[in-house]
Amino acid sequence: MYVHIHSISVSYVSSVPTRFKSDTLSSDNFRTAMRFSLGLDQPVLVAAATETADHPRQPCGHCGVTFPTAEHYQTHALTVRAGTAGGSTYNTHNHILEAVANCAKAVGVAYAIGTTFQGVRNADGNCRLGNYTDGHGVQREKYADIAFLDMPQRAFNAQLVYGDVTHRTVVGTRGGDPVPVHLAHLRAGAALQVADAEKTLMYDQALRGRQNEKVAILGIEAGGRMHKHFHRLIDTFAKFKADADAGTPDDNTSPASIKFHQSVFSRTKSLLMGRIQVARVKCVAERIMHVTRPFSRPQVSPASRPAPARLGPATTRLQQIRRI
Ligand SMILES: [Zn+2]
Repeated sequence: MYVHIHSISVSYVSSVPTRFKSDTLSSDNFRTAMRFSLGLDQPVLVAAATETADHPRQPCGHCGVTFPTAEHYQTHALTVRAGTAGGSTYNTHNHILEAVANCAKAVGVAYAIGTTFQGVRNADGNCRLGNYTDGHGVQREKYADIAFLDMPQRAFNAQLVYGDVTHRTVVGTRGGDPVPVHLAHLRAGAALQVADAEKTLMYDQALRGRQNEKVAILGIEAGGRMHKHFHRLIDTFAKFKADADAGTPDDNTSPASIKFHQSVFSRTKSLLMGRIQVARVKCVAERIMHVTRPFSRPQVSPASRPAPARLGPATTRLQQIRRI
């Protein structure tokens, strides 16, 4: 039994594609995500937690800890820090950011990336906000994850709209055991409310005195719930595309043209929402499937960095230094 599972996981490791594609799900991703959403134990984690005379439990590939049940492993997979931030193993944050960037590209909204992305630190001047004081009282310079360079003003009532992607899980551990966090089992969207409060505090500081600028909180929970700003961004993108394809409706627009506009809008909206949700499902599934895989940080060369879509004149190194 153990040998069989082991051989599957080894052959999987050797066939893992070097480039993570956030817009496609393997059948393993799908099965894992389906079990996750139904609250079923994952066979790979049941095997990891099973201790026999011949085989000890399989440790977490990041911190070497073993757990008594599959549920413990799953909670750990969803909360281990190595799974979240930019440049980390599973890179959940950046895969969702990549999906957002792909959505912008799909509808023709120009953007710039302002965070470590695909192994490259992007300190793009377009994404530079002001300073804020972190939890330890240290002043830090804040860059948005993404800046949308030509968004229509009406959506966020701001001339410049930035995005901050955040993935939040609703489980945590207490005394080593899985528990819901932020009373998320009693209040729907509780994890997003906490994210909203944290981010609002930080961006109120970082955008002090910049009245016409707004950071959209692109928050998504492990279960799929999205922050209202995320919904608004997708709606804005879909409207941008519908206006481009069908023209902006006004008093003289014919009923047929209005209908065409509406159909482009709804088709685009469901397409973009699908991309975001597929990225989220894939990240959750990959973390659950591979938590016991030995940790190795992916090495990415700066040369593989893709060019940002429709960027204006490049910010030179000198300009960046001058702004700092
Ligand atoms: Zn671990």
